[in-house]
Amino acid sequence: MTGGSDDDNRKPETRLSEAGRKAEWTGIPGQPGGVVNPPVWRASTILYDDVAHLRAARTDQHQKWFYGRKGTPTQWALADALTEMEPGAEGTMLFPSGVAAIACALMAVLKPGDELLMVDSAYDPTRSFCEKMLRPLGIDTVYYDPLVGAGIEDLITDRTRAIFMESPGSLTMEVQDVPAITAIARDRGIVTMIDNTWATPLFFQALGHDVDISILACTKYICGHSDVMMGSVTANAALWPKIQSTAWMFGQMSSPDDASLALRGLRTLALRLKQHQESALAIAQWLAQRPEVGTVLHPALPSCPGYEHWQRDFSGASGLFSFSLRNDGDSERTLFIDSLRHFGIGYSWGGYESLALPVDLHSIRTAKKWTVQEPLIRLHIGLENCEDLIEDLEQAFRKLHE
Ligand SMILES: *Cc1c(COP(=O)(O)O)cnc(C)c1O
Repeated sequence: MTGGSDDDNRKPETRLSEAGRKAEWTGIPGQPGGVVNPPVWRASTILYDDVAHLRAARTDQHQKWFYGRKGTPTQWALADALTEMEPGAEGTMLFPSGVAAIACALMAVLKPGDELLMVDSAYDPTRSFCEKMLRPLGIDTVYYDPLVGAGIEDLITDRTRAIFMESPGSLTMEVQDVPAITAIARDRGIVTMIDNTWATPLFFQALGHDVDISILACTKYICGHSDVMMGSVTANAALWPKIQSTAWMFGQMSSPDDASLALRGLRTLALRLKQHQESALAIAQWLAQRPEVGTVLHPALPSCPGYEHWQRDFSGASGLFSFSLRNDGDSERTLFIDSLRHFGIGYSWGGYESLALPVDLHSIRTAKKWTVQEPLIRLHIGLENCEDLIEDLEQAFRKLHE
């Protein structure tokens, strides 16, 4: 059986199982029924019977066999599945990384002379794109306090074309007041976009909160196994044609093999996130009790800036959060992280494995000074047994006292 987007009452878990499995993509020629998963179609050239068919294929190239850069049913199935997970969305384009998706979304909306309002807690490569690509093109970026809420109105000028959000923010986890910002943006005809990687559409429905464009680093939870780089941009009907044409002009697409892996990851997203959520919350609460810990920045804990927005707008919390070490410096932090046995040390997150990362922010923030002086550590809580992870953290704390 295949899912259909006409059935609006399906719960997210059901949609995750059924999304993108159109019969035309999973069917076996000459036989009823079909395979469960769309096959991996590796293709550059698409062959036609004759010139007339070749010419006819030009007319509407989206999700039609035309040329490998426009995708095959493997990528279309993933794109449609991501669209189905975001009610109110018109379509999704796929990219070879999350950063490529962010770059394309910004380029689709902005032109020379425009101003962009960018959240101060944005993922660092997003900032770099604004400074090193957009600014030389005559597009200015103004950074705003992640907790600005309706105060965003004071930052809007007649050049403001777009507002970019990331909630919770990278590294420091501030949860934004998205509805307050989108309400003002709608009024003024300003485009809103969000990096929704932390929550995924499962825990935060961006378009349902009136955001125009939702961006995911699918590298993280969608793929979920630390073996794929991918990004996606999902847009409402008004912005979709621009997103689609910009992605085409930049020649962006993900490979069919990667799309197939992402589809496999997507099917278990709800199950994985449930466990990431449970373990991360238990560990965050355990950390909050430790004498060595200063502050715990987990969106589902009241100690996290913007916690009330998380509580109001989100349906869950994923496995990534930060905390600070009280009374300790960089060398103690290094000792702590190096002492961990079950946590890998490395960038990225969203896989099944736990990770730890030292976080240094003072040079990144410009709109609002980061005032926590204690050294920060970011944890991604994976799918290992939670007690094993707590024991591991405990023995690393003991090392600090030796
Ligand atoms: C990792 C990440 C990205 C970039 O994704 P890549 O696939 O690594 O390019 C963007 N935003 C956030 C919040 C991320 O954590």
